[in-house]
Amino acid sequence: MGEAKVRVRFAPSPTGPLHIGGVRTALYNYLFARKHGGDFILRIEDTDQNRYVAGAEAYIREALEWLGMNFDEGPAAGGDKGPYRQSERKALYAEYARKLIEAGKAYYAFDSAEELEAAREKAKAEGKHSFKYAAESRLSMKNAESLPEEEWKALVASGDNVIVRLKMPLDQTIEFNDIVRGKVQFATNELDDKVILKADGMPTYHLANIVDDHLMEISHVIRGEEWLSSTAHHMFMYNALGWEAPNYAHLPLILKPTGKGKLSKRDGAKFGFPVFPLDWDGGEEGIYPGFRETGFLPDALLNFLLLLGWSSGDDQERFDRASMIEAFDLSRIIKSGARFDFDKAKWFNQQYIIDTPIEVLYEHVSSNSEKAVSKSYLSTVIELMKERVELLPQFIENADFFFNAPSSYDEKTIRKKWKEENKSHFETLFSNLRSLEIFKAPQIESEIKSYISNENLKFGDILPIIRVAIMGTMKGPDLFASLELLGKEVVLERWEHFLQQTNTLT
Ligand code: GLU
Repeated sequence: MGEAKVRVRFAPSPTGPLHIGGVRTALYNYLFARKHGGDFILRIEDTDQNRYVAGAEAYIREALEWLGMNFDEGPAAGGDKGPYRQSERKALYAEYARKLIEAGKAYYAFDSAEELEAAREKAKAEGKHSFKYAAESRLSMKNAESLPEEEWKALVASGDNVIVRLKMPLDQTIEFNDIVRGKVQFATNELDDKVILKADGMPTYHLANIVDDHLMEISHVIRGEEWLSSTAHHMFMYNALGWEAPNYAHLPLILKPTGKGKLSKRDGAKFGFPVFPLDWDGGEEGIYPGFRETGFLPDALLNFLLLLGWSSGDDQERFDRASMIEAFDLSRIIKSGARFDFDKAKWFNQQYIIDTPIEVLYEHVSSNSEKAVSKSYLSTVIELMKERVELLPQFIENADFFFNAPSSYDEKTIRKKWKEENKSHFETLFSNLRSLEIFKAPQIESEIKSYISNENLKFGDILPIIRVAIMGTMKGPDLFASLELLGKEVVLERWEHFLQQTNTLT
């Protein structure tokens, strides 16, 4: 018997922006599909109308497009197993709920919100931890198990507040094999009678999820660990319907930088890093920053996420897209939670920036900057700054001296290095620079260095002063290349200005 074709799906609910954990889930599905020549499917799980957030689906699609994860099937890509939005498949699910009822694995229930609330209150009053709609309470509630047949049939016919619940058996064990966790077992006594069809005729996540995974011929379900306990209910339904369940792989949680607890959207603001791929307008909560707008290259983010829950088995850390696909393997997903380390994310970005051609960086930097400089000038700024930035906006932010004369001078350097007796040397030096015919880094360097040697001066007394006078700060790329880029006129102008300032200072 041949192995079934690999078909995996990313199945987000459009209830808000895509959390970075969701992006990792999408990535692992994508890599697994590509590695096995399989299909990567986008399915929008939008059956919970109350939690629907306008714009969330478009956001999810834009984020995945930015990251270059292309779907073979989905709402936009099409495909012959559609529609790929669950709300558009509504009519389909009731039939399977009915089948489960016929098989004695589910039942109609009619409890109103008030009745459920009353049951919860009662459980509390009796000192129970919480109310569980299950075998223990089923007969005291309003459903087809507790009511006489005539009565419940009339309620079903009235169509008023009719829902369907799973009928979880007592004293059984539900067992399945998880690719990450191995054998997983759940005692049915711990599981509740989950709602599978709601009063508005919409399925809940649980029913829609397994019906669609089955009809879409999903071979592997790769999803977050938070769904592990639901899988027991899912297995129960697969068995009841006589369907073969897909293979499961539940991914570890992504933890806060402290390693304590799950990374949440609030942590982004708290620790000062993005937890979403793109900016998200949270209305009254303000804008949540995205990795894209913070200045990440898509492939760097993917590389970072790859290792947040998966390990190559050796020390290799850098993976371009092709090698990621080649190396990825479900068996090396890590069981324990993965700590989110933003410094590591920035380190990856820096490495990718260094390896990105100037023209590509130019596109990124110029599209986000309004500096009135020529393409060749900005390209040279990028070249000089390339090894000194971790985030794309820093090409501009950390290179202000290439666009503006310094508004202040590094005080510490001036205090330590500025000596009145060197003033005449600087005068000669700058007048020599003025006479330089070719104002390029090698010529500038040899002019300055030979003057220092000939006059028996110290490099450490002269070079820092030149740097601070022209750039304002000690932080910056190669001094001579920087002077060349600024050009003779600007350099001399800035030097004059510096002298005036020091005159007023001293
Ligand atoms: N709609 C679920 C979510 O938002 C999908 C879980 C699954 O992949 O089964 O995460």
